[in-house]
Amino acid sequence: MKIEYAYNIEDIIIRPKDYIYINYRKINHQNVLPYFIFLNTAVGVKVQKITTRKLWMLEDKFKRRLHDLIHSQLIGSNGKHIQTLIGLEEACDGCENCANIAQKCLEYGPLRFSTLQTMTYSKNYKKLHVTDKLFEVIAEYCISKSKNKEECFKELKNTILATISCDKLAIWICETRREDGEDPMRDHMHMPREVIDTILRKWNVKSLKLSMLHITNEYVCSVEWLQYDYFTRVRLNDPYSETKQSELKFNHVEVSLSYSCYCVRDLGNREISVSEYRGFDNFIPNIRRIFPTDRITMDLSHWFAVPEIDIEKKMSTILQVVTMEKPQNLSLDIKFFVESRIVKKLNEETEKEELLGVAPGYVLQKKRLHCFKKSSPFIGEQGPKVFLDNKWIGRRFQVEDTVHQFTFNLDVYIKEKELEKEFDKVIFQEYPNSFVRHFFCM
Ligand SMILES: [Zn+2]
Ligand SMILES: [Zn+2]
Ligand SMILES: [Zn+2]
Repeated sequence: MKIEYAYNIEDIIIRPKDYIYINYRKINHQNVLPYFIFLNTAVGVKVQKITTRKLWMLEDKFKRRLHDLIHSQLIGSNGKHIQTLIGLEEACDGCENCANIAQKCLEYGPLRFSTLQTMTYSKNYKKLHVTDKLFEVIAEYCISKSKNKEECFKELKNTILATISCDKLAIWICETRREDGEDPMRDHMHMPREVIDTILRKWNVKSLKLSMLHITNEYVCSVEWLQYDYFTRVRLNDPYSETKQSELKFNHVEVSLSYSCYCVRDLGNREISVSEYRGFDNFIPNIRRIFPTDRITMDLSHWFAVPEIDIEKKMSTILQVVTMEKPQNLSLDIKFFVESRIVKKLNEETEKEELLGVAPGYVLQKKRLHCFKKSSPFIGEQGPKVFLDNKWIGRRFQVEDTVHQFTFNLDVYIKEKELEKEFDKVIFQEYPNSFVRHFFCM
């Protein structure tokens, strides 16, 4: 089940809401309980998986009530059927009920510090979710319990227990963290490196997911720990040459940029003004230093804050960014969802539309791709009534460097509807090597 406050990346102002989307259907606050009862009695569902999103954006009273109803109506006090519970602690900031359910799940999180402290049992999780804020809270807790660096690191070892293991660790990283009262444009997201390394080691993490998030309810940084020189400070947007190489190794690092603003913008664009520069072109080299891996997959799924320049330039810039470090032994896959209008441009002299080509360096692969994504336009402040399934058609463009064992697959997707509506096959005869023609031929 998916329970979410529908959130648009462009919708920067936060307004408390008294409705929610349950499995992509808009439900008013007074209808939530009847709907849950209906699911329980008429349909008799046994809920195994609950994902909530952005519940903290709801009205306070509604948020607390929804949290309690999810526990009482959907999960039940013994939590017999639940296997996955994601995001609920954003509504309560960690409570006893949530901590109890954490012990029953195979996938759980993001966990608040109070829940982490209850995890003294031994258990192998399929997936645990943590936030950058948790790293800070752990660092400050250990500092508060100790008199010097040595004691602090000893405390860290006792706080992260090896009785817990998890196959995949999902780290939620907020892009707009700042000190209380500070200008939101200031860039603040240091993380205590030793806390991250200890978690990765003690929990025996095999692969990772990094979710870059534009806003979360944990946007205020704790700065206490920065007063002490115990912990190394890292950020994924710092110059990579300053980032120490970890000795660990992971099967796979998956990066989600669906709710990112700055990371997406800076990956696809290197010509931004200095004052806005956030250094995310260092993102991939930093990942390979902090979370060493030979396999990175990424999704670039929306267009907010990315200037709509043409597809050729866009592909060249992405190639420039991902090869900045001259990577070795790396397989990198990026899913890139684009609007059809960036594949053509208007010639101002002839006033005719021209089709753009494929950027140099890329080789088209035979493989045809498609996928479905749920989305819907926002109508004013009201949010969508329903979410529609859109089919996207994709083609794979590859850059291969066999000497350094680097393979980069850029899978570009365009909405099927836009392809059908906006392109006339006659124009392809004029532009046989155009980018978009590859979406129509075999
Ligand atoms: Zn709770
Ligand atoms: Zn700072
Ligand atoms: Zn073709």
